Amino acid sequence: MKLNQGKSCQTTHMNPSDFMIIVKDGFNQKSIYLERSFYSIGRDRDRDIHLSCQGVSRYHASLMWLNNSYLITDGEPGGGPSKNGVTINGKKIKSKILKSGDKITFCKGAYGEVKAFHFNEKPKKSIASEKTEIESINFIDFKKFNLKNNLTPDLNLMSEHPDLSIRTDSEGRIISFQNSIDKNLPKLSTKHLNKLISECFPVKFSLCILSHYREVEKTQSLETFEYSFTYKNQVLYCEIRISPNENGCQTIFIRNINERKAVEKQLLIKANHDDLTRLPNRNFFMEKTACSVILRQRDERYHFAVIFIDLDRFKIVNDSLGHLAGDRLLIEISSRLKDCLRPQDIVARLGGDEFGILLHDIQTIDDATEVAERIQEKISLPVVLEGREIFPSASIGIAFSNFVYNSVEEIIKDADIAMYQAKYSGRAKYAVFEPEQANQSLEFLRLDSALKRAIERQEFKLLYQPIFEFKTQKLIGLEALIRWSHPQEGLLEPSHFLKHAEDAGLTDLISQLTLQESFRQIKEWESHFGNDLPIFLSINISKCQFFNSDLINLLRNLIEQYQVNASNIKLEITEATLMEDIQIAINIARCLDNLGIKFLIDDFGTGYSSLNYLHDLPIDALKIDQSFISGIEIDGINAGVTIIQSIIGLAHNLGIEVIAEGIECARHVAWLKAFKCDYGQGFYFGKPMTTENVDCLIESNFRACIKAH
Ligand code: C2E
Ligand code: MG
Ligand code: MG
Repeated sequence: MKLNQGKSCQTTHMNPSDFMIIVKDGFNQKSIYLERSFYSIGRDRDRDIHLSCQGVSRYHASLMWLNNSYLITDGEPGGGPSKNGVTINGKKIKSKILKSGDKITFCKGAYGEVKAFHFNEKPKKSIASEKTEIESINFIDFKKFNLKNNLTPDLNLMSEHPDLSIRTDSEGRIISFQNSIDKNLPKLSTKHLNKLISECFPVKFSLCILSHYREVEKTQSLETFEYSFTYKNQVLYCEIRISPNENGCQTIFIRNINERKAVEKQLLIKANHDDLTRLPNRNFFMEKTACSVILRQRDERYHFAVIFIDLDRFKIVNDSLGHLAGDRLLIEISSRLKDCLRPQDIVARLGGDEFGILLHDIQTIDDATEVAERIQEKISLPVVLEGREIFPSASIGIAFSNFVYNSVEEIIKDADIAMYQAKYSGRAKYAVFEPEQANQSLEFLRLDSALKRAIERQEFKLLYQPIFEFKTQKLIGLEALIRWSHPQEGLLEPSHFLKHAEDAGLTDLISQLTLQESFRQIKEWESHFGNDLPIFLSINISKCQFFNSDLINLLRNLIEQYQVNASNIKLEITEATLMEDIQIAINIARCLDNLGIKFLIDDFGTGYSSLNYLHDLPIDALKIDQSFISGIEIDGINAGVTIIQSIIGLAHNLGIEVIAEGIECARHVAWLKAFKCDYGQGFYFGKPMTTENVDCLIESNFRACIKAH
């Protein structure tokens, strides 16, 4: 550090940072510390110095650093002048080198004042006497005030200076200072004069300042850094700027940036966290996983795992109980997931009902599968939403770092593939990624895009399977069954695509097409065979569709659009769907009833025991699942047959009719007739058929009816 040789310094070398401009527009006043070599001034928001005043041009003036001061120029460099011009101290100028105290007028209502902190300048008169429109900032050089004569500095001179400014000599002794108006910053008094920085501030802080001092001395340019320390029992974040002056003197500006830090912190939290669950978000998760990938590349002993979690049937909760309930479920799941992990692991919400977990520094894949099991156990505990008990479950995919991963995207993709594998193998499961799954997933993607194309090109069609009455052998209804008319593979049955469509969230579109086509068709039959058409059309409704709050509206609109007799339409809901949430199902069924649409319980008896609720549901009939019918033996009464008999008896007691599905032979018919089953459907009576064939069937059935009369 150079010692001040006591030379008086007549020529003042100035740096950009010695300047400040105080600007005032119609709304506010700002003090801007200058440090760059160029500034644009104007009304446009993206100007460096923005003045919000009508009379200010969009690009009004520029400031350019020229060796020892700023040059102000009217208008944009290379462009025309501003509308109202630039006036300095009452004189219009094209360009002018600025000096401390210059008053700039951009227009009526927008002003600027230049302040230069060069310490050899005599202190200015108080602002009160100057009567400027803008409060002046004066740097008090106590040495110039001649402290020896015990002249106390007039603190009133210090106007709204945001920084604590300290000028030190080349030894680091305080030779002058100006306190900040900020009450949270330390205040200096005359007793600090001539003291070393280290005598006035905490040791660490002083050391930090000194280390920057050296840098400033070496580079002779402004150093800016941040520092935090505890002051008056609170953490104080400061921005510290050290600027070089002549003779090895330096000026330290200390500004309280607690507010800025708080905003920065909030922004950082926002950028890395999910608003709803307060968990880290996808960004954060990707960043941390990327670190693990790199760590693994450097150290082969380090292992980690990425776990992907997708809630099963979340859409149903959202659609049936509303978004608020859905949100509450996500929050509950988030806290359960956190409970399953060690503090060093990360759980993030990746979007929608998807969560990601990074298990950091584990030994084997077993550590990850154990976590997956724990998660499944914890997640499956009931949650009460809107007074209802929901039993959540999740499909989990795990990717372990035993494979070579070159990027975070690769391992995330594998965890995702494993998760789909788990979902595909029947929900509430977990799967560990194996390379073979990638091929299956390719197949999955292929099917996905083919299905989307099929929806666009309307490659779906309906076939109709007849339902007959045992007693009269009359056709009483038709079941609409979807087929995909695949351009290469021909007519595909639902088992080839429906489940996939459901997993890929495509059922909504397919179901809408089915409903629309069914209504159009029943209208055509009504028009052709008369309004008192003696048959109904039953339409299969998927779980998603049934619990979708739009279903009732959609049906109401279709009835209106096609002007069909609502009693000619029946909806088939599987017993499994009903039992997903029986209370909601009962409400939906009642709404359907109000519309005049009845419904049938499909695949009845497959182990969901809706028997207890049958009397609460406004149902027309139940369809005994075909597995019971195929179980009818050639001779003798077996357990399967006894069940059919009991179901029929029970339903009849409740006034509900019974349809038997999957009737393939006369033997089935004989038994079912003996059990007083009402209706039957199966290949024995007719396979699913096209509309042309149905037309003939209805026609002949009509004729037979007329003959019988
Ligand atoms: P489901 O509603 O129980 O329909 C009866 C299924 O059994 C149909 O299969 C039908 O072709 C088949 N079937 C009828 N009689 C016999 C028989 O005697 N023997 C045998 N082995 N099978 C028989 P399909 O058309 O393949 O449909 C399968 C399932 O796909 C349906 O079961 C239904 O749950 C669903 N599905 C079909 N069409 C639609 C639709 O438009 N929307 C929705 N959401 N689901 C549909
Ligand atoms: Mg059905
Ligand atoms: Mg069925």
